[in-house]
Amino acid sequence: MTQLKTPLKIVVLATRNIGKIQEFERMLDAADFEVKLLGLQDFPEMPDVDETGSTFAENALLKANQISEYTGLAALADDSGLCVDVLGGAPGIFSARWSGSHGDDKSNLEKVLRELRELNNPTLRAQFRCAVALVIPKNENLEKREILREAEIVGEIVMEPRGTNGFGYDPIFQPDGYTQTTAELPSEIKDRISHRGKALAAILPEFGRQI
Ligand code: IMP
Repeated sequence: MTQLKTPLKIVVLATRNIGKIQEFERMLDAADFEVKLLGLQDFPEMPDVDETGSTFAENALLKANQISEYTGLAALADDSGLCVDVLGGAPGIFSARWSGSHGDDKSNLEKVLRELRELNNPTLRAQFRCAVALVIPKNENLEKREILREAEIVGEIVMEPRGTNGFGYDPIFQPDGYTQTTAELPSEIKDRISHRGKALAAILPEFGRQI
């Protein structure tokens, strides 16, 4: 395990996804304090965290806590997914693996549409939800801190997928107030209105205050 000295603000982002790291870096660039962001690729021997929680919040806290404990540094984790009202909130925390294989966006999305087609004239209300957790380890002055922020974006499922931006369920989710799906909206707009964008914006000031 790499042991790092702790300069002013270092945060480990709980993902191996370079795209996500860049998204967080863009947001931190706009902030008026300096943070060095590390990713899990900087800790190649870190074991995978099992997402055994039953809510987005529990999973985000689980990931941030384990990564903070392993690295001895502040850690930021997010957990997110699509919740369809008439499906009892499914796929929810199982969004990434709804069709069985992890990260197969197309078959996950098709499974949701199939389930809706089986219902008689279902309501199509849905939300994307995101929980973001920041865990800061105990130091000589302060106890360990856990900070959690959650956000959602509400809208409707469209039964014919549209658009090629984004990922996951974006082609079948149309936010309230828009005529495009989140896969048709430009990324600057999606970042501003999305569950993840809003949760990140809410936790960002804590980087300046707490770390
Ligand atoms: P994770 O938070 O990266 O684990 O994402 C969980 C899963 O939820 C993803 O694999 C997607 O299927 C879905 N999801 C989360 N956020 C979005 C989004 O912004 N657009 C589309 N799908 C999403």
